[in-house]
Amino acid sequence: MRAVQVVGYHQRLELTEVGEPEVTGPFDVVVRIGGAGVCRTDLHILEGQWAEKSGVTLPYTIGHENAGWVHAVGAAVTNVVEGDKVILHPLITCGLCRACRSGDDVHCTASQFPGIDTAGGYAEYLKTSARSVVKIDDALEPSDVAALADAGLTAYHAAAKAARRLRPGDRCVVIGAGGLGHIGVQVLKALTAAEIVVVDRNPDAVKLAETIGADHGVVADGSHVAAVLDLTGGNGAETVIDFVGEGGATRDGVAMLRRAGDYHVVGYGENIDVPTIDIISTEINLIGNLVGSYNDLCELMVLAAQGKVTLHTQKYPLDRFQDAIDDLDNGRVRGRAILTP
Ligand SMILES: [Zn+2]
Ligand SMILES: [Zn+2]
Repeated sequence: MRAVQVVGYHQRLELTEVGEPEVTGPFDVVVRIGGAGVCRTDLHILEGQWAEKSGVTLPYTIGHENAGWVHAVGAAVTNVVEGDKVILHPLITCGLCRACRSGDDVHCTASQFPGIDTAGGYAEYLKTSARSVVKIDDALEPSDVAALADAGLTAYHAAAKAARRLRPGDRCVVIGAGGLGHIGVQVLKALTAAEIVVVDRNPDAVKLAETIGADHGVVADGSHVAAVLDLTGGNGAETVIDFVGEGGATRDGVAMLRRAGDYHVVGYGENIDVPTIDIISTEINLIGNLVGSYNDLCELMVLAAQGKVTLHTQKYPLDRFQDAIDDLDNGRVRGRAILTP
């Protein structure tokens, strides 16, 4: 089959011919890929940022946001059959460790990560496990939802976690209305009656956010902390979800937070510098968020099937992978770039 592989760091990806993955274990599921999301993480992989962390042996097939059709299943697989339309949870998890047993797939102590440390989805077929496949509604197409497997799942996990604490009338600030923030706003709208305030540097992104559920849009032009305080009666918001995490976003975000509020970190890059005396005297909570669980992905697929979460995609055949990478790198992708092997 054809597959796009990392052959070296700081080098271009290469399209080559490799053997098709085969079912070898009882819980194996081989998926014919219908859509593979092209993610900023893929650019970071090529820059070598993941080399040490993943320990992957080159060459290997990249691509960690995948959806398609079940092609073959192991003898013990009962939850899907050949031909089922599925989206793939990004990890292959053991199902036996303490984290897996509490449904917390992301913290599995014996997981594999296709596209990061084992063969991924920039290919015609990919091997995963029965634990990682989520059947999707007939009305959805794999190439339309593939990017929800990682980017969407991450946004869902944070927004749904925040939503569990948000009461009607509370305010939730979303910092960053790019790919993840865009999904986060739609999820919040579907799950809460909180007032949603979106903050972004880009006025077009703010406008777009207002069309998909944001109650207020604030352009981050230097007056945005004051603007949010104004919108919240001077108290700040009960919740801030920070999809940026760099360029001063955390300083501004914490300044927008109400006493006893929750600060969700999703985007990353800078250090958070908050005096401990401020943390104890205001009882604010700083909360990390990492991808999402299998159940999070199932719930997100319900919202997708209901048309409550949609994602704009730009599609490329597999052999145009370099165009997709270049377009992403140069800011020419609206929504998410998807390879359609
Ligand atoms: Zn990704
Ligand atoms: Zn596990």
